Amino acid sequence: MAELVRDRGLVLHTQDHAETDRIVSLLTENHGQVEILAKGARRLEKTWGAALDLLNLAEVIYYRRRSGLHLLREASLLRRFSQLSQDLVRLEAGLTLARWARELVPKEAPDPRPFRLSLSFLFALDAGGPAEILLRAYQLRLLALLGYRPALNGCVACGKTEELVWSPDRGGLLCRSCGGEGEEVPARVWRTMDALLRLPLAALTRLRLPPEDLPHIDAMLSAFRAAQLAR
Ligand SMILES: [Zn+2]
Repeated sequence: MAELVRDRGLVLHTQDHAETDRIVSLLTENHGQVEILAKGARRLEKTWGAALDLLNLAEVIYYRRRSGLHLLREASLLRRFSQLSQDLVRLEAGLTLARWARELVPKEAPDPRPFRLSLSFLFALDAGGPAEILLRAYQLRLLALLGYRPALNGCVACGKTEELVWSPDRGGLLCRSCGGEGEEVPARVWRTMDALLRLPLAALTRLRLPPEDLPHIDAMLSAFRAAQLAR
């Protein structure tokens, strides 16, 4: 007999399955990322089906199975982040957050921190916080929390704060004396990223981020993510 479990989770992804079923990826509080088969979720009379829409916070009761998909028994909506869909930039940030969580958070890992981090950032996005800033802060913090914290307050090898380049393989900023090669990262950019990683959530809303720095930060983030995860 499979174990019956109650948990809270954010819906990261949904996929239609068979005639009326849906496969739901949830970032849960107590079991990391889980995949659950919701039988009949797309039938109209199943009122709980909508509780499992993308980016919702739901309470689920499900049968845990040793292999294959878990099986949903019940779902109820705890929170719909309804302001996200009112604004394209906000919605895009929410969807990117869900995609990063889905790609990075390990399955079945009993660590509540990724869930709590993601939830706090969704609340901040939904409350009208600055979407571009919140998303990059989330991405940096998720990496840090999963063991990939980039060195952002000086050279990863000697701590120097001048002539720094980005070295995803070495774990962050690297100075020229320590072997850093390529284009220098402007101090404004890496200091901003350091603030994105460290500042309390409430203080992030007061951070200024020049729009022209966004592509630079995104390129650094994605190179870092790729290099660290390939190790
Ligand atoms: Zn150095």
